[in-house]
Amino acid sequence: MLERLANRDFRPVILQHPLGFFRRTSVNVRRISELLQRQDQQIADEGFSLRAILGSMVEGVMIVDAGERIRLINDALARMFEFPHSPINRSILEVFLNPELRQAVEATLREGRSHSAQIQYRVGGSGITKAFEVYSSALNPQAGRAPAGAVVVFHDVTQLKALEAVRREFVANVSHEFRTPLAIIGGYVETLLDGALDDRSMAEQSLRVMERHCRRLNFLIDDLLSISRMENRGADLELRPVNVKEVMERVIEQLAPEIEERGMLIELDFPEDSILIEADGRRLEQIGLNLLTNALRYGATGDNRVTISGRVMENWMELRFSDNGPGIPLSDQPHIFERFYRVHKDRSRDAGGTGLGLSIVKHITIAHGGEVSLLSEPGKGATFIVRLPVSR
Ligand code: ADP
Repeated sequence: MLERLANRDFRPVILQHPLGFFRRTSVNVRRISELLQRQDQQIADEGFSLRAILGSMVEGVMIVDAGERIRLINDALARMFEFPHSPINRSILEVFLNPELRQAVEATLREGRSHSAQIQYRVGGSGITKAFEVYSSALNPQAGRAPAGAVVVFHDVTQLKALEAVRREFVANVSHEFRTPLAIIGGYVETLLDGALDDRSMAEQSLRVMERHCRRLNFLIDDLLSISRMENRGADLELRPVNVKEVMERVIEQLAPEIEERGMLIELDFPEDSILIEADGRRLEQIGLNLLTNALRYGATGDNRVTISGRVMENWMELRFSDNGPGIPLSDQPHIFERFYRVHKDRSRDAGGTGLGLSIVKHITIAHGGEVSLLSEPGKGATFIVRLPVSR
């Protein structure tokens, strides 16, 4: 039976020697075996709960010993960093190549206090640089004694940082867009106050410029509100069966003065008169208005023609806006749906463009569960394709 215990079999020992010395020894061995079994169970329970806790955490967790060697990591940490080799028993510096992280852990081990660090890490497999907020706390801190190790928790803040950057850029862009017309209006007000008011034709001209820029500011606010509404209540669409051809006819009607002014030929190419899709009619109209306005603004070179076509393919409706204008340079195409991105900067501003039209088209399409794309060979026109699900 001693042999059994030595082989980590701690099940209770059955007494085989009922008398004297052997009996006492047997009783003691039995007690020892029961004690060992209890301890074994306790260790197993602790191991299980520690593993269960670490395994269920979203945060990456690493346990480091007093010599700054990694002793344990959880699955989340392994997924976050995609380590090419196991980090177990290696030093922090060797695994993360990051002096700030090492300093934070080293300070925790030295002082027994928590420390934090912000680190960036280029993940091997995917090649993406991720951002982490890291907190290290002392393990078993006891007064006057150095801690036995440290628990280091990693929060992946990559997305948060990216969102922050987008927000900062957005605020900078909006401010810039507002500043220009305001500066122009301010300039004309000053000229008028400085005496131009007495010169009637000069005063009239100034007021006209001011009116144009006021209008531009209004467009900007309308577009910003459209985007914000789609972002905040992306799924809040008023879905009804909508006749797409009829919506496009309304769009053409609304833009009739501009179409006439530019001598543009608009062709509607719908093989069936009533293609019905489940959509928000007003928003679909906005898509049409933005894309047709763009074709009028940027697609005009002389003998101009725009075709709006609609086809149903299985569960999708494909709406195409094709013009025969100058098209969009290849290098600009990947950015064309970004907010405030313009290829023809002056032409856009002069025509009252906000740089938000295509971004709104994209938002509306995505809110409907669809997608938008561009086909354009520079010099040979542009085709914007909006794919929408027929029903949702
Ligand atoms: P904007 O208010 O400037 O029109 P958009 O987001 O609608 O903003 O368009 C972004 C830019 O894409 C425009 O400034 C223009 O340079 C370019 N663009 C859009 N549509 C066309 C087109 N049909 N042909 C050529 N360029 C276009």
